[in-house]
Amino acid sequence: MSTLRFHAIKGSLGSKPVAVEEKIRRSELFGENVFNENTMRQYLTKDAFVGVVNAIKYGKKIDRGIADQVASSMKDWALSKGVTHYTHWFQPLTGATAEKHDAFFETTGDGMAIEKFGGSQLVQQEPDASSFPSGGIRNTFEARGYTAWDPTSPAFIYGTTLCIPTIFVAYTGEALDYKTPLLRALHAVDDAATAVCRYFDKNVKKVSSSLGWEQEYFLIDKRLAASRPDITLTGRTLLGHSPAKGQQLDDHYFGSIPTRALNFMRELENECMLLGIPVKTRHNEVAPNQFELAPIFEEANLAVDHNSLLMDVMGRIASRHNFKVLMHEKPFAGINGSGKHNNWSLSTDTGVNLLAPGKTPMSNLQFLTFFINTIKAVHKHEALLRAAIASASNDHRLGANEAPPAIISVFIGEQLTKVLEELEGVTKGKLSPQEKTELKLNVVGKIPDVLLDNTDRNRTSPFAFTGNKFEFRAVGSTANCGNPMTVLNTIVAKQLKDFKVEVDALIDKKDLKKDEAIFNVLREYIKSSRDILFEGNGYGKEWEEEAKRRGLSNNKTTPEALKARISEQTIALFEEMEVMSRIETEARYEIEIEAYIMHIQIEGRVLGDIARNHIVPTAVKYQNILIENVKGLKEIFDKKYEAVSKEQLSLIEDISSHIEGINANVTKMINERKKANSIDDIEKKAYAYCFNVKPLFDDIRYHCDKLELLIDDEIWPLTKYRELLFTR
Ligand code: ADP
Ligand code: MG
Repeated sequence: MSTLRFHAIKGSLGSKPVAVEEKIRRSELFGENVFNENTMRQYLTKDAFVGVVNAIKYGKKIDRGIADQVASSMKDWALSKGVTHYTHWFQPLTGATAEKHDAFFETTGDGMAIEKFGGSQLVQQEPDASSFPSGGIRNTFEARGYTAWDPTSPAFIYGTTLCIPTIFVAYTGEALDYKTPLLRALHAVDDAATAVCRYFDKNVKKVSSSLGWEQEYFLIDKRLAASRPDITLTGRTLLGHSPAKGQQLDDHYFGSIPTRALNFMRELENECMLLGIPVKTRHNEVAPNQFELAPIFEEANLAVDHNSLLMDVMGRIASRHNFKVLMHEKPFAGINGSGKHNNWSLSTDTGVNLLAPGKTPMSNLQFLTFFINTIKAVHKHEALLRAAIASASNDHRLGANEAPPAIISVFIGEQLTKVLEELEGVTKGKLSPQEKTELKLNVVGKIPDVLLDNTDRNRTSPFAFTGNKFEFRAVGSTANCGNPMTVLNTIVAKQLKDFKVEVDALIDKKDLKKDEAIFNVLREYIKSSRDILFEGNGYGKEWEEEAKRRGLSNNKTTPEALKARISEQTIALFEEMEVMSRIETEARYEIEIEAYIMHIQIEGRVLGDIARNHIVPTAVKYQNILIENVKGLKEIFDKKYEAVSKEQLSLIEDISSHIEGINANVTKMINERKKANSIDDIEKKAYAYCFNVKPLFDDIRYHCDKLELLIDDEIWPLTKYRELLFTR
């Protein structure tokens, strides 16, 4: 009997839900472990408080004296909560979060010790950064990088550690993390959007970008997950036959949450409350053992931090409940994958959501301005947006037979499509008083009504307008939202900047009124971005051909998609918007393409190992049992044995042919890997991994999965899909 699999199954059977204590109301727990405005008010002097608030709200610099005061108060607060260590918490380009803990404790040289934490430790640190990915930046320039305090994301306590959100940059200033370019992009979109808002309201001083992510994930029994080397090493199953029952019955979606999973969620939500992560929604997803968690949206930088923190916290709490969280975009073949919808909007410091229709024609014109500019930005930069969500694991969703497709398009719904059609007919140049009235009353003025009954909900579009926000749905479940949010905010910033220039030119040179100029520019934008709009539900051949006619890119694999990351257009865009320098853009491309190569390489090795060292020996073992059986039958039945052992003989042959299939393909794969490894050019190498190595995974898997159906269940070494997916 295959020991590990059955040991794991035995351990998982009859697992009791782990008890969770919920004593206090959630609203009372919320933010308990966060050095937020409320806490700062209690602990900081008035000067220090104002300094930090100005930094958060208006990006003002915090001077050294204030930093010292803040550090000292943070320490007092943390010590009062039993904290012993502090860490700069950051998001390097590995995809995980990073931290290095230091104790507050310091000796004073007289045999005594004190707890110490000053402004310099708060503001800047130098982690041993040499093994974080830098895409060559640190080799070329400086060997060191440093972390620097981001006061816009509040410090928090996790366990007994005070965590200070920081950026991570090279000494020469280049960003080595997700947060730095995001902050620059948010700054760019603030500038550009505020300038446009002033056409409508002179009181607007700041525009912030908001993000509400929806995190999908699988919960698998910890012992079962540990019994599978592929899950342990790659986060997904590389083989496994689909179970007799999958998700055909749709009986899991929105069904009652199993108690074990529910208790995990309750504890997770409690921890989120303490950490100030405003989680609100939980439910079952489409696939068995698949779930979703969503918070109330927040300012984008904070929301990105909260998602990264959440992914980390989830793993730790799951373990306490004997679960492993699978964040992978496609942990199981033939079963729905996981994504992370990024709900995005822009709002003003006067409290207006710029992507929500308003109450007056003027506020609706403002809405349309931001709405149409976003569509235009997505159209112009669709390939870059696709690149921003490219990864080896997300390739299993995008471009594979699963929604959303690899083609980026925008869904806006029937009613808004009609509004845009009407606006397309606006007269060139000056508008007659009648036309203005007509537009105000019947086009722009009608929007709030129509949106209320805009209930058509397209679920498969990669980028959909959902009433008061856009929903970027193609983001992968493992992704750091910082990457897509940087790109989205940058392209919208650039678009708004161009828009302002065009409108101003019409006002100055053509002597148009402000609203006439806006209508004129929007009309042209609608005409030129028609091709990005797609209301269809399908993601099959027909749409692919149509998209091709429209000139939209359809990059199904990461190496193809990533090219848009280093096109001259992209480099110029990031430079102009001061989000990333050429060096930073190129470095990121290098890191991402290398990560891709590494992923496929590891998967190839693991698959080869499992196929040859686990599956083939099991097949041989079973074949020997059959051979013994046939020999015995021959002894008993003599000449007649062939008739009675017909099935066994054909099984023996089938097994042999699958063993041969495995061996031949594993050998082929190893050879292709060797060839790929000898290529110096990383782009070519990634292509070799993508198109020569990876396709062999399917061939190897095919034979292994066939054997799973032939071989005695008692000796099959790998925990099966039905066991992984239906253990509650
Ligand atoms: P669903 O998409 O499942 O129907 P909702 O429409 O309620 O759910 O919202 C999904 C997510 O969108 C939530 O996380 C919510 O906080 C977020 N969201 C709502 N409004 C905004 C906004 N203005 N900006 C960003 N995210 C938002
Ligand atoms: Mg959604």
